Amino acid sequence: MLYLVGTPIGNIGDLSPRARQVLSDVDVIACEDTRVTGILLKACGIEPKKLFCYQEHNKASKGPQLIDMLRQGLDVAQVSDAGMPAISDPGEDLVRLAIEAELDITVVPGPVAAMSALVLSGLDTRYCHFEGFLPQDNTRRRERLNRLTKYDETIILYEAPHRINKLIEELISAGFEDSNIAFAREITKKYEEVIRLKVNEAPGYFEANPPRGEFVICLEPLEQKAEAESGMCDADTLIKLLIEKNMPTKEISQVVSRALDLPKKDVYKRSLELASMKNYN
Ligand code: SAM
Repeated sequence: MLYLVGTPIGNIGDLSPRARQVLSDVDVIACEDTRVTGILLKACGIEPKKLFCYQEHNKASKGPQLIDMLRQGLDVAQVSDAGMPAISDPGEDLVRLAIEAELDITVVPGPVAAMSALVLSGLDTRYCHFEGFLPQDNTRRRERLNRLTKYDETIILYEAPHRINKLIEELISAGFEDSNIAFAREITKKYEEVIRLKVNEAPGYFEANPPRGEFVICLEPLEQKAEAESGMCDADTLIKLLIEKNMPTKEISQVVSRALDLPKKDVYKRSLELASMKNYN
């Protein structure tokens, strides 16, 4: 059996009891860096039977070797340095090989930095797009950035701290300057924090507080913002009509928010603003 095992993204207390059991029991643990995984296992009191290096640079040759071990009936666990294997980490190729070889695969789920950041971000969690790392190649990077402007789901990016400033500049150039953005830093670690601001406020923030540690970036999409804005335009017309009919503000907020699927408190606030304007321009 091939086990895809999630490991902590910072706090070793997040290694699940089932993950401990599997990592103790399997014949082989395939990991990116035997030192990194060795440290985790030692800290958790796990004595591995065998560690096997499987990483981005050797996966083409080491993948088939792991498949041979599985064919011989050995149990293999695959882990990455942190988080879930196959999420911006090696894993998906091994899964594909195992499927082709008709071998059994299962998952032992664990923390994922992207999802942990999303729930902390305060942005829309119903629909999201996981982008991970943007390509380093300039042309492909520009293409991906351009594609991001078309999404209407919260966008989740991974980025190294020394490239955060460049990424912010690129997001501003792509038109995201007024979007809300959340930088979730050092999640589950001692210095965990979430920096929530507008994209165009980020350069000033990071000039005063240089980026350190690991970051996940959650970004409000352009399409959603445009929809929200056009929704409020429709709302204005309806609110004005209801004010003319002398409907109480509370009732207006209920009716309009239900009709246009807008947050009740935003409609309430807008109704008070419009009522105070009287002539509405
Ligand atoms: N497989 C991992 C997962 O499931 O999230 C992702 C591995 S990817 C190589 C590493 C990137 O994940 C980092 O550069 C950072 O963007 C993000 N990351 C990992 N741990 C993090 C943490 N504790 N806090 C914030 N971001 C983290």
